[in-house]
Amino acid sequence: MLLTTEGHGAASVSRDGGVASDGDKNRVHGVRMVTNSVVYGPVPSRRLGRSLGINNIPPKTCSYSCVYCQLGKTINMRVEREHFYEPEEIASSVKDKIRQVREKGEPIDYLAFVPDGEPALDANLGKEIELLKSFGIKIAVITNASLIWREDVRQDLQKADWVSLKVDAVSREIWHQIDRPQKLLSLDKIHNGMLKFSDIFKGELVTESMLIQNINDNRQELERTADFLAELNPDKSYLAIPTRPPAVKTVTAASEKTINLAYQIFTERLSNVEYLIGYEGNSFAFTGNVEDDLLSITSVHPMREEGVTEFLEKANAGWDTIKDLIKDDKLIETEYEEKKFYMRKLPQSGRILLS
Ligand code: SF4
Repeated sequence: MLLTTEGHGAASVSRDGGVASDGDKNRVHGVRMVTNSVVYGPVPSRRLGRSLGINNIPPKTCSYSCVYCQLGKTINMRVEREHFYEPEEIASSVKDKIRQVREKGEPIDYLAFVPDGEPALDANLGKEIELLKSFGIKIAVITNASLIWREDVRQDLQKADWVSLKVDAVSREIWHQIDRPQKLLSLDKIHNGMLKFSDIFKGELVTESMLIQNINDNRQELERTADFLAELNPDKSYLAIPTRPPAVKTVTAASEKTINLAYQIFTERLSNVEYLIGYEGNSFAFTGNVEDDLLSITSVHPMREEGVTEFLEKANAGWDTIKDLIKDDKLIETEYEEKKFYMRKLPQSGRILLS
């Protein structure tokens, strides 16, 4: 199974072993036994630095079955919360893992709930966060937000330091097409829950919107999504594309042109927007290497022509650098409202059509 801390179903880092299986052999008195791989990593994450992942959900148990999910089709579709594992056992596994990681002298920036499904389906989530807080490391939760209309879920999430909410689409029809929610879920209730949560949450709130070609990447839906996000007022909004095999084989990532369009529409309404397009391994610090720096910057934000000119002047480099990067298929030139923008070429040319 593949998992990442870069988002729900956005697999990028391999984790060894499986989790406690959904089968009876791992159940004692109705509660699953925690296995070693309920805690994994640390894995590198662009948003969270080095994070230790917590897989508090049995395999592919989710309230959505997103077309782009990189964990495959949802096996156990549900909306009721359940006590999957004993919170004390999860805390004890995390404690052991922290000790092992620290013995190797490695840092941990976050303890991140990024399971093989929806973390809020775990009725013990709040208790687990409370127990893990005693380790003095910040807690992150990446949730699809489908249960956030429930007060107990908001209370649980409120205990975390960093929460990411999924907002792929705000029109009901498009939400159904892309996230394929469990039939009892109501988008209006989810939106209300998100707004209530944004009002009370004291930590860092971010959103993640996955852009899929011909589903949610039209201008009207992007504008509607950005309007809702402006009301939600997160600390940061991420625009993502799938970079690993999706659940539905014909799913294709939005094009570079559309991603740039989405970025422009989002930044007109939101103060902090970034790409999340699969380059988490890069350093974003100034390296003194003009090509590396340009590629690092443009993998997060598109650069306007004048910004590139200024950057090249500072670096004492010419436009040949840009031409070479375009020729080498590393950078692309695109337009928005008659202005030129430069952005990093997407992985596999932005296409993930797989046989
Ligand atoms: S919310 Fe979507 S992407 Fe996340 S685990 Fe569920 S089906 Fe996969």
